[in-house]
Amino acid sequence: MSKRDYYDVLGVSKNTSVEEIKKAYRKLAIKYHPDKNPDDKAAEEKFKEAAEAYEVLSNPEKRQRYDHYGHAGVGGASGGGYGGGGMNMEDIFSQFGDIFGGGGGSPFESFFGGGGQSRSGRRVAKGSNLRIKVKLTLEEIANGAEKKIKVNKQITCKTCDGSGAKDRSSISTCKTCGGSGSVRRVTNTILGQMQTTSTCPTCNGSGSQITSKCNACHGEGTVRGEETITINIPAGVSDGMQLSMSGKGNAAPNGGIPGDLIILIEELPHETLKREGNNVVYDLHVSIIDAALGYSAEVPTIDGKAKIKIEPGTQSGKLLRLKGKGIPEINSYHRGDEIIHVNIWTPKALSSEERMLLERLRESPNFKPQPGKNDKSFFEKMKEYFE
Ligand SMILES: [Zn+2]
Ligand SMILES: [Zn+2]
Repeated sequence: MSKRDYYDVLGVSKNTSVEEIKKAYRKLAIKYHPDKNPDDKAAEEKFKEAAEAYEVLSNPEKRQRYDHYGHAGVGGASGGGYGGGGMNMEDIFSQFGDIFGGGGGSPFESFFGGGGQSRSGRRVAKGSNLRIKVKLTLEEIANGAEKKIKVNKQITCKTCDGSGAKDRSSISTCKTCGGSGSVRRVTNTILGQMQTTSTCPTCNGSGSQITSKCNACHGEGTVRGEETITINIPAGVSDGMQLSMSGKGNAAPNGGIPGDLIILIEELPHETLKREGNNVVYDLHVSIIDAALGYSAEVPTIDGKAKIKIEPGTQSGKLLRLKGKGIPEINSYHRGDEIIHVNIWTPKALSSEERMLLERLRESPNFKPQPGKNDKSFFEKMKEYFE
């Protein structure tokens, strides 16, 4: 599948300013937003395509590379550099923070103008954000996970469909503002007459009045309820990271825009593996005999057990590497390694027979430590593996 030119996607010319690119993307993001186009695959594709184009063109360095080398300059001629099939939804929504201003909130906030005021002056209520914690095992982090989570939150009242009114006939146009949601006031100042517009105090900007309230929600339009939300967690997340799902937070009164769901990632400790960035570290304990004679050791990995060869004469502290057996980097093809730290196990108790055998070996020159000039120090080894 060949990709469309990013400038064409956003409908801007090659020497457009970043501001114009932002504007063009904002328009497309609102038009194709999944909340506005439920179950519309074509809209979702357009939404993702626009996000990817924006991701590249809004970054001066990436844009330059794109201008010089095309799609190949920003992550492969095919597929794209964002974990295969373009960006995922979480990335796109988290990008909204800088596009739409505010704390990564809903695009509708700025669609309706600052402070939730629409062009027509009608106020749109916004539901509050909801925060949940998701605990993940190292395996889930390495492979990505789909979590179905039951959340307790404000949901739209089914009885009144969120309007807060008892029935259709109990909603009427606000008499104070005539349905516009705002009122004009003319004040006399020393500079002459000044006209100001403010939110209608009667309807609070909604433009309508309810004469008889819904019994189920007492006119709020929302009730406490439960929703099972499917959360797709990309591979490579880490402890403390926050993902945001637009529109999955608390429902807003009067059919407004729902808040966002903020997902805090908590990493559960693994029984045997320790995460170190995108690498995982395993402490392997090897007997003196195995270290001297060599053997094939079985080690745990994120993908199950693996065999690793311990060469005869292996020293304690040696670091071995299983390439690509670590954690994937988020939104990338690159995967970390598993690093195996070899610890030579010295017996803590000996039978008299064992003691006799070892006493016979004690004076053998092969059993005297002979560190070589080329044996690297612990810090040198760490540097080599972690940098
Ligand atoms: Zn209701
Ligand atoms: Zn009003």
